Amino acid sequence: MPSKKTNNQSALRVQEGIAQPPQLNEELLKVPVKKKPLQEAGYYISGILDGNRTILSQAITLVESALPAHQVVAQKIIEGCMTHSGNSVRVGITGVPGVGKSTFIEAFGMHVIDRGHKVAVLAIDPSSQRSKGSILGDKTRMEELSVKNEAYIRPSPSAGSLGGVARKTRETIVLCEAAGFGVIIIETVGVGQSETAVHSMTDFFLLLMLAGAGDELQGIKRGIMEMADALIINKADGDNITKAQQASVQYQNALHLFPPPPSGWAPRTGTCSALSGIGIAEVWDLVLEYLELTRSNGYFRQNRNSQAISLMMESLNEQLFSSFFSNPDVEKEYQKIRESVGTNSYSPYSGALHLMQVYLKSVRQGD
Ligand code: GDP
Repeated sequence: MPSKKTNNQSALRVQEGIAQPPQLNEELLKVPVKKKPLQEAGYYISGILDGNRTILSQAITLVESALPAHQVVAQKIIEGCMTHSGNSVRVGITGVPGVGKSTFIEAFGMHVIDRGHKVAVLAIDPSSQRSKGSILGDKTRMEELSVKNEAYIRPSPSAGSLGGVARKTRETIVLCEAAGFGVIIIETVGVGQSETAVHSMTDFFLLLMLAGAGDELQGIKRGIMEMADALIINKADGDNITKAQQASVQYQNALHLFPPPPSGWAPRTGTCSALSGIGIAEVWDLVLEYLELTRSNGYFRQNRNSQAISLMMESLNEQLFSSFFSNPDVEKEYQKIRESVGTNSYSPYSGALHLMQVYLKSVRQGD
């Protein structure tokens, strides 16, 4: 029978350690944290135009804020920066998690800086929550680039609807361009709708892929391959080089089957190793070649213009929708009409027409 151990014979007994000082300086907790007072838009605009990164960050925080007072200032800042923006090349980068996007952006960004440019890296990840650490744009993932004076890395605006997150990113592009960043990289995970959003705000769209993983495995839809201006197989190093080159040829053949894009540019494939830096310069050369072609054939301008017009239409849609549904007269009538349409006592078209008449009448009376 095991003998009963006394307390201080137990292996689990707690040793008294050496007293440690508290890890937090309690005194500091008593100092009230000063909130940065909201400044006039002009303060942010001139700071941004001077290339002041702290002020740029503050302005982006206002763009991302949901507070109406912040939004008022943010819209003025965007207006003020608008005429100083647009002189950049906007590169969208997508690919499944693990394909090497951040490793690629680090190497690519460093190369582009070596060629004399300033680079801003933004991200669109509607699932990210900044408080929990954003998946994309996390500074620790681009250690070398993030400490460069010529680079600015901003994590994805925190979780929200894709439309909301995309809008904030578009507005952030304007501010970064006004601050002198000539190359804007926008990263997104290649698993959902966000690629389309990134494509709609960039000039050049790059799809990173891996050799040997079937398209299904990589979650890449045909539609996304069709949007790509370049399809680059990453991790072409070690034993993987031949496989990567074969994959590149296969994709090049597959791309021939797609209808020619309106840019007049024939999408290219290639290989690179983001880790060793091999092939990175060639990707930048592709971007330059693309720019030369699309600037000379007029597509670059035309595409930017149609992107701006679709953005305006999207925004108009949203505003009309929100004005319609926040109208008190519509609100009163809406449930009734909804039920009537649901029980077939009213046709859907007449229901919509009736609600529209209620709305227009209410708006006219409010004038
Ligand atoms: P992301 O999720 O797409 O941003 O991918 P990461 O950049 O975080 O890379 C995922 C993993 O792949 C990391 O362990 C990287 O070190 C590795 N990786 C990235 N690029 C390369 C490459 O070119 N070659 C090799 N061998 N590994 C790479």
